[in-house]
Amino acid sequence: MTQKQTHAFQAEVKQILHLVTHSLYSNKEIFLRELVSNASDACDKLRFEALDHAELFEDTPNLEVRVSFDEAARTVTISDNGIGMSAEEAIAHLGTIAKSGTREFMAKLEGDQKKDANLIGQFGVGFYSGFIVADRITVETRRAGLKAEEGVRWTSEGTGDYEVETVTKAGRGTDVILHLREGEDEFLKTWRLKSVISKYSDHISLPILMRKEEWDAEAAKQVLKDEWESVNKASALWSRSKSEITQEQYDEFYKQISYDTEAPLAHTHNRVEGRSEYTQLLYIPKKAPFDLWNRDKRGGVKLYVKRVFIMDDAEALMPVYLRFVKGVIDSADLPLNVSRELLQESRDVKAIREGSTKRVLGMLESLADSEDAADRAKYADFWKDFGQVLKEGIGEDHQNQERLAKLLRFASTQADEGVSLADYLKRAKEDQEAIYYITADSLSAAKNSPQLEIFRKKGIEVLLLTDRVDEWMLSHLFEFEGKPLQSVAKGAIDLGKLQDEEEKKKAEEAAETFKPLLDRLKEALKARAKDVRVSTRLVDSPACIVVEEGDMSGHLARLLKQAGQ
Ligand code: ADP
Ligand code: MG
Repeated sequence: MTQKQTHAFQAEVKQILHLVTHSLYSNKEIFLRELVSNASDACDKLRFEALDHAELFEDTPNLEVRVSFDEAARTVTISDNGIGMSAEEAIAHLGTIAKSGTREFMAKLEGDQKKDANLIGQFGVGFYSGFIVADRITVETRRAGLKAEEGVRWTSEGTGDYEVETVTKAGRGTDVILHLREGEDEFLKTWRLKSVISKYSDHISLPILMRKEEWDAEAAKQVLKDEWESVNKASALWSRSKSEITQEQYDEFYKQISYDTEAPLAHTHNRVEGRSEYTQLLYIPKKAPFDLWNRDKRGGVKLYVKRVFIMDDAEALMPVYLRFVKGVIDSADLPLNVSRELLQESRDVKAIREGSTKRVLGMLESLADSEDAADRAKYADFWKDFGQVLKEGIGEDHQNQERLAKLLRFASTQADEGVSLADYLKRAKEDQEAIYYITADSLSAAKNSPQLEIFRKKGIEVLLLTDRVDEWMLSHLFEFEGKPLQSVAKGAIDLGKLQDEEEKKKAEEAAETFKPLLDRLKEALKARAKDVRVSTRLVDSPACIVVEEGDMSGHLARLLKQAGQ
């Protein structure tokens, strides 16, 4: 094929082109992200094929992407020395859409919903975004392994058809040359291109090079030099192996992404393979951010797809109760530029969320259960700042409820803080059938409650719960290791085997003796109390108020009243 050949775009491509150029204009800069990502993919593909065919590297083993522009010609060029395309491949990949789902993509773009620029690329149509800013695109490419004379020039105005011809191209790989539309001259500036690259492509692991600029006093303007410099950090810390990364580097990266000035409490870094493939680098901060209580606040996990930045705060990747976790998740499976809506529905994302949740819980467990007292102290600090948020998980994450329950820490009648349910059970009386707790507004109110008298007398530990979220949490947590959680302020306290027979008998007798008094009290308090009973729960106080089993506790009723309900 030496002659120029004209090919018509596949019908779908025509529609896509029309839609992309018209609906995504408000987000036009994403063309650079798409083309840089294609260039980086092409380098990845070459590296992969070269595992078995080292000769594909020819004499340029260093893979890189170059972004340049020509003010006079009004072109922006994205070049790579990756795998390149043969003529057949150029026709197949740039003239047809291989992936299914085009129709849905178009329906989404056509719908009156917000035109989400993130949609593009989702169906493998990222290349066409070049036509948002260009009225003509020239692709010059040569597949690695083919001769220099077997290069291809592909040209199109992005309407009905494209031309393909054979050219000679010395270097392997691909140049995508965008002939800018009228009015798109903003992309003929180094700083503009640089800022788009650092926004979206900073963590691409290949160097993205641009020509250096220098101030020319005579011309009184910036001029381009022949020297190239890397404009991305090309670090992608998470994609390196753990053994190559120092603690300082981990901490530094955390500070970069979290804007925290302190080092994190802990991190976890893993490559997950299997049905869903991804890398996670997750951190737990030392201190709670000021807006921890805002449940609408988006999470701190950034989503990358193959080292290309997709979005900040990808809340679908972490359950709400872990919203304090910071870090990066880099998926190998998700389509580039997947939208938030799609994230919510994706099975891959569900697998990532479940896997990441387990990792975070694992991180917390290893601190909480550590042999090392320093680690346990770290966990105690963590609990002070984040414990209340973690408690939300008891109700929200049934799958991990047991693990979360083990991480809970409370005050009790025996210690002012740090009591786990396991500690409690270790200390419990042999015959004790329940885990007892009381809820109150403050620790001192809880401690001084008359409801505790009988428990004190019998030496039974009672958990003192004073967080606002506790009542709600307890409406989801019924037992721990087979022992029910039981409020000391609800219903008739049955201490089971711990109740001595004699006391029980005394109470029954008293109920008989005092029946007339009880009846009079009942009559007098008719409108305010359901029942008046003789109780064994008090030791020193003459009377106390309890709520019926299954009713709202006094504490919760007060909270709701405060909240105006
Ligand atoms: P996707 O990247 O999701 O496959 P694109 O529309 O961005 O979709 O690109 C379509 C196809 O064109 C790619 O899959 C690839 O085969 C080919 N392609 C695009 N850019 C390059 C490039 N720089 N080098 C080699 N092949 C490319
Ligand atoms: Mg692409």
